[in-house]
Amino acid sequence: MHGLAVVAVFHDLSEAQVACSFLEARGFHPLLRDRNTVAMNWGYLFALGGLRLSVPAAEAGSALETLDPVRKAASNDGSTACPACGSVGIFQKRSWFWSVLGLLNGVAAPRPTGRHVCRDCGHEFGYAP
Ligand SMILES: [Zn+2]
Repeated sequence: MHGLAVVAVFHDLSEAQVACSFLEARGFHPLLRDRNTVAMNWGYLFALGGLRLSVPAAEAGSALETLDPVRKAASNDGSTACPACGSVGIFQKRSWFWSVLGLLNGVAAPRPTGRHVCRDCGHEFGYAP
C-alpha cells in the first residue's frame, strides 16, 4: 500500500499536536495536515472538517492500535452525564473571549470553559469559568 492513511481527526489543535508527538515518539511518521493553516486562523478548523492526523498507509494499523488506549482514556467514560436527561453525549464549551484574545495574539486554540452542554437535550451544566 502507498500513500497516507488518516488515523484520527481532531477539532482541537493542541490535542492534535499531542497525538502527533505521541506517535512520533513511538517511531511512527505522522503528518498533521493543515496544522499551520489552523494555527494562523482557527476558524478554518471547521471549514476543513478538522485536523487529520495521517501516517504512511503501512503504519496505519499499528498506529490505530497505539492511539486506541489514548482515545479511550480521553473520551468520556460515562462518569460525566447530563443531570437533566442522563445522556453521556456531552461536549465542553469553549471560551469565545479566549478565542478572540488568542486570535489577536496569534494563538489558535480556544480554551475550555469548564461548562458542558448535552448534545441530546441542550442542557448546560458544570462549574462557572
Ligand atoms: Zn441532557
